[in-house]
Amino acid sequence: MAQDPDCIFCKIVAGELPSLVVAEDDDTVAFLDVNPATPGHTVVIPKAHHRDLLTIDDDALQATLATARRVAATASDRLDAVGINLVNNCGAGAWQTVFHFHVHVIPRYEDDPLRLPWVPTPGDRDEITATHARLTA
Ligand code: 5GP
Ligand code: ZN
Repeated sequence: MAQDPDCIFCKIVAGELPSLVVAEDDDTVAFLDVNPATPGHTVVIPKAHHRDLLTIDDDALQATLATARRVAATASDRLDAVGINLVNNCGAGAWQTVFHFHVHVIPRYEDDPLRLPWVPTPGDRDEITATHARLTA
């Protein structure tokens, strides 16, 4: 299984750094985030080192998402969350700080401090059409 000796999440997988594990199987592990956005904020990772969404293979991605869904269900049941956000940051330009693929499972509560990180505003039709062309050419 691919590991990176300099990666803090690989060190968590190896048991070299402590973590509070909430779910685990052969291929994935989920543990509480040390900087929780809300109570129960969990990081779900493949045990093998994959840098990000663009490099992880489909099997590892599927396994990680399946564990994320299990964690989301448990948080809904046990923590009385009113909803769940799944967040993945891919690349430094998109807030990724630990370069071992992970999904944040963030339970949501009435009156919690989280806000949508963009303001939904109707886009320019021509720009949307031009972007569509670039994506599908
Ligand atoms: P990113 O910013 O890469 O999407 O998310 C990395 C997450 O890992 C952050 O939310 C950060 O709080 C969490 N984190 C960083 N180092 C550790 C650690 O040593 N233990 C745990 N449990 N979480 C960590
Ligand atoms: Zn790693």
